[in-house]
Amino acid sequence: MSFSPLLAELIEALRCLPGVGPKSAQRMALHLLDRQRDGAGNLAETLTKALEQVGRCQSCRTLCETAHCQICTAGGRDASLLCVVASPIDILAIEQSGQFNGKYFVLNGLLSPLDGIGPETLKLHEFNQRIADAQVQEIILALSPTVEGEATVQYLMSLAREQSKPISRIAFGVPFGGELEYVDSHTLSHALSSRQLL
Ligand SMILES: [Zn+2]
Repeated sequence: MSFSPLLAELIEALRCLPGVGPKSAQRMALHLLDRQRDGAGNLAETLTKALEQVGRCQSCRTLCETAHCQICTAGGRDASLLCVVASPIDILAIEQSGQFNGKYFVLNGLLSPLDGIGPETLKLHEFNQRIADAQVQEIILALSPTVEGEATVQYLMSLAREQSKPISRIAFGVPFGGELEYVDSHTLSHALSSRQLL
C-alpha cells in the first residue's frame, strides 16, 4: 500500500521523534487522521504555540517561556550549589530525587569532537560566565559516564580550576536493589574508586 503524498509527508515528519521508526510513524499518522482529528488539531496548535514561545532560561538554559525559569526564580534554593546537566530532562530526574536544592546549568549536549561538537557549539563561554558569579561556591557535574560525558567532565574541570571553583562529580555505582554479580565491571570499578569512608 502506498500513502498519499501528504500522508507520506506526515509519516516522514513524525520520524523526527526519538525512537519512532517507519512502522510507528505510520501507525501514529493513521491514528491521528483516522481516529483523533480533534487531538491532532490540538497537537498541531500547541506545538506551533510552544515553538513560538518556548525558549531558553537566561540563567540556566533550560526550556521555558519566560526570561528565567521557575527554579532560577524560586526563593529558598541554595545559589552556592550549581549542578551541571546535559539536558533539561536531567533536571527533572534530579528534582524527583528530592536530594538537591541548588541551581542548575544545562549544557544542551556533550562535547564530541568526532561529531564536530566543541565548546563553541555548546556555548561554554556561558558556563564560564555563570560560574564567575560570586554566589557559586561549588559545581557538581551530573553527566553520564560515556566517552562524551568524560570529555565534557575534563573540559569543565579545567574551566572551573581556572576560576578556582571547587568542582565535584556525582558518584556512579551499584544500582539500588541490584545484585553485585550482575553489575558490569566498568560500573563496579567506578563504584570502587568513588567509595566513601563510613
Ligand atoms: Zn533557569
